[in-house]
Amino acid sequence: MIFTPGPSALYFTVEEHLKQAIREQVPSWSHRSKAFQSIFLEATENLRALLEIPDNFSIYFTASATEIWDRLVENLIDEDSCHLVNGAFSKRFADQATRLGRNTHIWEVKAGKSHDIRKMLMPDRCELIALTHNETSTGAAMRMEDFGLIREAYPHQLIAVDAVSSLPYPTFDWSTFDTTYFSVQKGFGLPAGLGVWIVNDRCHEKASARLQAGKSIGSYHSLPILAQAAQKHQTPETPNVLGIYLLAKVAGDMLNKGMEAIRRETNYKAAFLYGCFERWEGFKPLVEARQHRSKTVIVVETEKPANHWMEALSKKGFEIGAGYGDFKNHQMRIANFPTHSKEQIELLADTLESLF
Ligand SMILES: *Cc1c(COP(=O)(O)O)cnc(C)c1O
Repeated sequence: MIFTPGPSALYFTVEEHLKQAIREQVPSWSHRSKAFQSIFLEATENLRALLEIPDNFSIYFTASATEIWDRLVENLIDEDSCHLVNGAFSKRFADQATRLGRNTHIWEVKAGKSHDIRKMLMPDRCELIALTHNETSTGAAMRMEDFGLIREAYPHQLIAVDAVSSLPYPTFDWSTFDTTYFSVQKGFGLPAGLGVWIVNDRCHEKASARLQAGKSIGSYHSLPILAQAAQKHQTPETPNVLGIYLLAKVAGDMLNKGMEAIRRETNYKAAFLYGCFERWEGFKPLVEARQHRSKTVIVVETEKPANHWMEALSKKGFEIGAGYGDFKNHQMRIANFPTHSKEQIELLADTLESLF
């Protein structure tokens, strides 16, 4: 059983959909065919329903979330961006913006901590504010209220939310940001190699303005080109057709199950795991502030080297994630995604406890 935060376990219906895809020869479909157009439409419509995405947002496909970071910079930032950094992933977006020649303003807090939104003052010239809903390296999550507070304080800025390791779980208020994105190998439980970029009209306007001003907004994945292709339910390039097919099917399965049930189970499993790690000696959730604890990626500090537990668990058939980067030896990360059942999470905890 795989509890690594990404890639993670496949959603439990993926195997059947993969078999069906091979029977239908999906990987050989032309991306200009009617069959592809209908699967593109099914994927975007299912996502729109599942995540309750309003009409003023468009849905585009890319290769990864890492690609989307570059596209956000190229399409939406002339000069200055502001980044709330609380771990490796939020830092990496800032690094990419710097490498693309933008002035990045960085507010960094220690691993496991979150920003005190009310105390922050970002310069007016920041055009885009980069937020990370769920910092996968530390298990720190932003509260939904935080997005509203930032939107209120910075109504003129574009706000981008990295929700790579939390979607489909969060119930977003879509009026509090302008763009969000994820890749499919985390919460959606799909094979890696597909990013989903969701953008509103303000983002399209900014990209058009940049283009008109003679600035580079990139080539095949600029917003106007993505929009033009999406009108025909297509992508500019030959995309990951199989990935889009599987996403359409799994989003459909999640719709049938219902987000309410998925959220309820996620909350239960997260509370159960945090409860164990608070109770057990030699373990401690990295994020102390309960309101900032991620529901989907649980990060624990360990007294014994993390390896000790990971290897013992692996022998029993459970794969969990190591701490990220420098924290490899003292932390463990456990994914709590929709495919991880209550029973599996309880079995993981029981097994770990049996190793004490
Ligand atoms: C995994 C992850 C990314 C990068 O996703 P890729 O699919 O590897 O591009 C970005 N942000 C967060 C928060 C992540 O967890």
